[in-house]
Amino acid sequence: MIGTCKLCCKEKELRHSHILPEFMYQNLYDASPKRFYTLNVDLDNSDNSKRKIEQKGIREYLLYGDCEVQLSKYENYAAETIYAKNLGNKATIKKANETPDQQYFTYEYEGFSYSDFKLFLLSLLWRVIISKSFNTPEVDEKIVEQLRLAVHKQDPLDFDDFGCLLQVIKYNKGQIAGGFILDPFLTKNENNPILNILIDGFMYSFYLNSKQLPSDKKDFFLKKDGTMVILGRVLFTDKGLFERIKAAFDFFKTIKK
Ligand SMILES: [Zn+2]
Repeated sequence: MIGTCKLCCKEKELRHSHILPEFMYQNLYDASPKRFYTLNVDLDNSDNSKRKIEQKGIREYLLYGDCEVQLSKYENYAAETIYAKNLGNKATIKKANETPDQQYFTYEYEGFSYSDFKLFLLSLLWRVIISKSFNTPEVDEKIVEQLRLAVHKQDPLDFDDFGCLLQVIKYNKGQIAGGFILDPFLTKNENNPILNILIDGFMYSFYLNSKQLPSDKKDFFLKKDGTMVILGRVLFTDKGLFERIKAAFDFFKTIKK
């Protein structure tokens, strides 16, 4: 299909691209046939909540070949690091802590390539916003353009531009709350809009205006020295998130005791 590449804005033959890199939801696939769940939650009107079963993953005509290759470079990097798909893993956990009640965990990583991992995060955010497959809340066009330019020019920006808090959400100490994608939703922190998307147990919370945050709120963002703190939390400690999932999905049946 000929169309305008969303990244470089050139008229080209477009690829039928994955919106989310495939490794991010490999664990979501049922054994056979391959499928996974996407959940859309409307907290104000639960009748509007939807549950979709996707075959094979969500694709759209977004990118021309060279631009897709560029993004796949960052995807491969993320696959090797936080998703540990290959053996070339360079980022490691330096220290892991848990609170005495075992409701929160922190994993202090070091050894990330700031540029590669930050560009992965920025490209993920950008794709989720421009995709028509998700019911992503409206985001200011200036922000979308800023993201497009950063990804296109391979500029990872400052650590506190579009800072991302990455959390592993668990049902209990051992079990990750995976198996589904929760459609993107907006929350606020100190008047700062945050776009959240939960993908197979990994919650990506992108602060859309994170420069303005007080410095202690930036502790979890990826730093230029390659360190990042990833937070683990038990789902039931986050009432908003818990309600959101519960409203859409009878997930209790899937919890194996
Ligand atoms: Zn392009």
